[in-house]
Amino acid sequence: MELRLYDTLSREKRTFVPLDAKDVRMYVCGPTVYDFAHIGNARPVIVFDVLFRLLRHLYGAAHVRYVRNITDVDDKINDRAARDFPGLPLNEAIRKVTEQTGKQFHADVDALGALRPSVEPRATEHISEMREIIERLVAGGFAYVAEDHVLFSPQAMNAADSGLPRYGALSNRSLDEMVAGARVDVAPYKKGNTDFVLWKPSKPGEPSWPSPAGIGARGRPGWHVECSAMAWKHLGEHFDIHGGGIDLVFPHHENEVAQTCCAFHRERMANYWMHNGFLQVESEKMSKSLGNFVTIHELLADWPGEVLRLNMLKTHYRSPIDWTMKSLEESVKTLDDWYRVAADVAPGNPAQSVVEPLLDDLNTPLAIAALHGLRGNDVGALAGSLRLLGFLSESGAQWEGRKQQASGVDAKEVERLISERTAARARKDFAESDRIRDLLAAMGVAIKDSKEGTTWEVAR
Ligand code: AMP
Ligand code: ZN
Repeated sequence: MELRLYDTLSREKRTFVPLDAKDVRMYVCGPTVYDFAHIGNARPVIVFDVLFRLLRHLYGAAHVRYVRNITDVDDKINDRAARDFPGLPLNEAIRKVTEQTGKQFHADVDALGALRPSVEPRATEHISEMREIIERLVAGGFAYVAEDHVLFSPQAMNAADSGLPRYGALSNRSLDEMVAGARVDVAPYKKGNTDFVLWKPSKPGEPSWPSPAGIGARGRPGWHVECSAMAWKHLGEHFDIHGGGIDLVFPHHENEVAQTCCAFHRERMANYWMHNGFLQVESEKMSKSLGNFVTIHELLADWPGEVLRLNMLKTHYRSPIDWTMKSLEESVKTLDDWYRVAADVAPGNPAQSVVEPLLDDLNTPLAIAALHGLRGNDVGALAGSLRLLGFLSESGAQWEGRKQQASGVDAKEVERLISERTAARARKDFAESDRIRDLLAAMGVAIKDSKEGTTWEVAR
């Protein structure tokens, strides 16, 4: 059985052949840490976590390296720091914003059942690698210094000899069209209107570092070069998989390829480029102004993280996903059932019927259908397969407890009411027992009577 992955660059599904099966390498663009992550940001986290788990299953956990960066240099961070901590020196305020947001991000993605990547590099710790890439690009004639900026020239790249990819190949655009379509009122220091920034001067008070050769003033990197530098440092000049959301294909990934390939004279940066589709909420684009902007943190107050995870994986990663309340309610029912049936059984090997669709470009909806098929006939394989996908991280009892906590139901109070009701039934006071049952229903608790006694659960 072989793994096949859809590659954005060649626009086809291809058999995955790692450069080194003992060291499979994947880079995924991580968050810019200035605010709570929203549920759209959770999509690449969950999708590439499933791929990470699958690669570990296929090649062995010790033979897969997954790097997801933290972007902690960015104008949005500076703006947020100035707004939230006006009394502090900017650098201190920035540290507060990035530390708080980074911690929150970890708490969120841990709750979603995502494994921590092998390395989580921070941009601020890789400035010297960025400088080195920039200096190589200038020396190679692909970039130039102008008014304390360094700019990359896509036209210089495409005019160069063979051995390099074509600028525009990843996003399937022609440079001529980009030139024609670009804004005319470009910054005066740009020679060409598609040139992009590798390095720029810092304003007084902003974070700054010694600049690449040829620039006296201190400055800071552009966003795209951050990822080229971190991927190079941790995975090398050429690696297997590069991932992120579909919105990153252009310009971010196009520019990353350009920088890395021109700096190291390579034809490729990554062999497979993978992009998740976009998430919208109740059929609308998520935005602050529409009031449908949901953070992972807010959702976790109402739903266990595994419910969010399942809800995400019900859609194939390349399709757009519509995030709805209705679908969440179905997901919680499915997980309740799986927890009841499989949480406390010894997990067997993941079933072939689940692994096979995953090998076909991470077809999680089909894998989930196969899980439903296992439920009635091989609970051990169901448990093993669920774990492969990052579910069942808790025991059945922990799961129930968490749901009650999330729903705000006071379990002690429920137990007390149930024993009052049992006593009422014993003395045949059915009016009272019905009253208590209705009271529990109003609290969102459903009860079930059987020979063994009364059990209860939080109804949704
Ligand atoms: P950002 O912090 O905006 O750079 O986004 C972090 C990651 O989340 C990137 O891989 C984005 O492509 C991805 N992303 C952002 N918004 C969405 C969305 N609505 N749906 C799916 N992925 C998204
Ligand atoms: Zn990136």
